Amino acid sequence: MHSGHKYRLYPTTKQIKAIEVNLSAGRFVYNWFLDYKIKEWKSVKNLKKSQRKTKSLFDLMKLIPVIRKENMWIAEADQRALAYEIRNLMAAYKNFFRRCKLGEKPGFPKFKSKYREQSIIHSASIHADLKNQKIKLPKNIGWVKCKMDRLKPGKLKSITVRRTTTGKYFVSLLIDDDQKLPLKAPIPSKNEIVGVDMNIHVFLATSEGNVIENPRYYDANKKRLRRAQRKLSRRVKGSKNRKKQKLVVARQHEKIANKRNNFIHSASNLLSKKQCVAIEDLSIKKMMTKGSGKKKKNIAKGFSDTALGEFKRQLQYKTDWQGTNLLVTNPENTNKKCNSCGAINNAAAEVYTCSTCATELHRGYNSAINIRNLAYELVIGNMYLVLCLDFLEN
Ligand SMILES: [Zn+2]
Repeated sequence: MHSGHKYRLYPTTKQIKAIEVNLSAGRFVYNWFLDYKIKEWKSVKNLKKSQRKTKSLFDLMKLIPVIRKENMWIAEADQRALAYEIRNLMAAYKNFFRRCKLGEKPGFPKFKSKYREQSIIHSASIHADLKNQKIKLPKNIGWVKCKMDRLKPGKLKSITVRRTTTGKYFVSLLIDDDQKLPLKAPIPSKNEIVGVDMNIHVFLATSEGNVIENPRYYDANKKRLRRAQRKLSRRVKGSKNRKKQKLVVARQHEKIANKRNNFIHSASNLLSKKQCVAIEDLSIKKMMTKGSGKKKKNIAKGFSDTALGEFKRQLQYKTDWQGTNLLVTNPENTNKKCNSCGAINNAAAEVYTCSTCATELHRGYNSAINIRNLAYELVIGNMYLVLCLDFLEN
């Protein structure tokens, strides 16, 4: 079972220099190969598919020594980490083509900017010393002070060193404890399935009647962020004051992100301990809302999109850890359908009112019950299918 653990690093000035060389080299190699792939594509795109010859990952790896000869400084970085950058790039490429095929928003791999958060992945041979709160990083970085509260026993698979836009250093360890994931619990009765409606008005609503609202603190932080951003726009480009103000903006962003993460973690923790959780397929839901209604691209909307995606990701791995079933349902009409009589009504108001049977309840609560019911139908359908297959086999 793989799990990730993030700790703050406290490098010395000398170590910061060494870490920065690794980060810069990683970025440099990634960007070099991205540029290479773009040029390669331009040269072959008009050819027939069978005549297109592009370099494989293996061929690309062989180019590293060539680049190193011209840019000696990258020799100081962890070479395995640089090879990993190419692997990452190729994976990003593959994902791009996969999304194109599926008709999703493709998102072509981007050049890495030195102004954004920086990270590099080092592979295994890393040592951690919990007693002395130190961690050994490759090449000439050495033992770096690291605040670790606990260390899960297991094999260290990889380690990511990260510098945030606010200049803090973190390390993320990927640990394999060699344990198998627990078996999924049998699906309980309908009432024990927790349907979860995720939406941008409130954060979540469950079929148990809980409504978790988008955190309030966000509004206060948003004001502060806007003020800081306005101030930044008035600063002269390239000036020292602008640089300072950039840090202020980055800190505001960081504060919001940290609070958001804590909030999402506690929500996903809570739900992953249930027996069975049902959510809607977010990608379908997104496609359905696309183009309809106003396209408000404000910060609050941005918050919800990333938050919901991250929430779903956490729910997926946490339910796997707990052996909880996670069912994914089709979102069609779940918000408009009346959970007690099945009539379709308008769901624009916060309180859902059914014009047929006069049911009245919170809009999210209504959707969550529908999601639970749909999930249960899925389960029953599957059981029926298994029975049929059994019957045919015997
Ligand atoms: Zn009704």
